[in-house]
Amino acid sequence: MKIRKGDNVLVIKGRDRGRQGHVVQAFPKLGQVQVEGVNVVKCHKKATSTVRQAGIIEKEMPLSIAKVILICPICNKPTRIRGKSIADGTNVRVCSKCEEIIE
Ligand SMILES: [Zn+2]
Repeated sequence: MKIRKGDNVLVIKGRDRGRQGHVVQAFPKLGQVQVEGVNVVKCHKKATSTVRQAGIIEKEMPLSIAKVILICPICNKPTRIRGKSIADGTNVRVCSKCEEIIE
C-alpha cells in the first residue's frame, strides 16, 4: 500500500473530489484510507453505556485508495508514487515528478 497515515492526499473521485486532507488512518488490508474531512457522514447516536451524549455526530468513513492521490510533500504536486529499493535493501517511495524520496 502506497498511502500511509499522515500523508497529504487529494481526492480525485467521488463526492469529495478536489478536497485535500491528511490520512487519519490507513487500512492496508481493505485498500482504504480515512481522510480528514472527507467522506463525512452524519450518524444519529443514541446514548448508551459507551456513548454518553446522544445526538448527531459527524464521522469520516474510509474510502478506497483508488479515489485518492498523494500530494508530494517536496514538490507539492499530486503525484504517482513509485516503489524503489535503495542500497541497504529497504523499499522507499519515490515521487514520479521530482524523483525525491517521500518519507
Ligand atoms: Zn515530488
